[in-house]
Amino acid sequence: MLIIAQELCLDCGGCVPLCPVEGLFLSFEDLFCDQALCTLCGACPEFCPVRAITLELKDAV
Ligand code: SF4
Ligand code: SF4
Repeated sequence: MLIIAQELCLDCGGCVPLCPVEGLFLSFEDLFCDQALCTLCGACPEFCPVRAITLELKDAV
């Protein structure tokens, strides 16, 4: 799953239009991810200038 570190995220919105499945959105100035849409493509964590997004490739225990 995709994990957003809200304490790091600047809510700049720069990653939102990069998502090929429109799985990222800003709401009330916080970034959210629709995990049902996210394909873990890696585009948003690669882009984020403050590395606020990480991909957890294994299922959370
Ligand atoms: S690019 Fe990074 S800082 Fe900007 S909204 Fe996305 S996760 Fe937050
Ligand atoms: S990893 Fe890819 S599919 Fe998932 S939210 Fe980021 S850009 Fe969208």
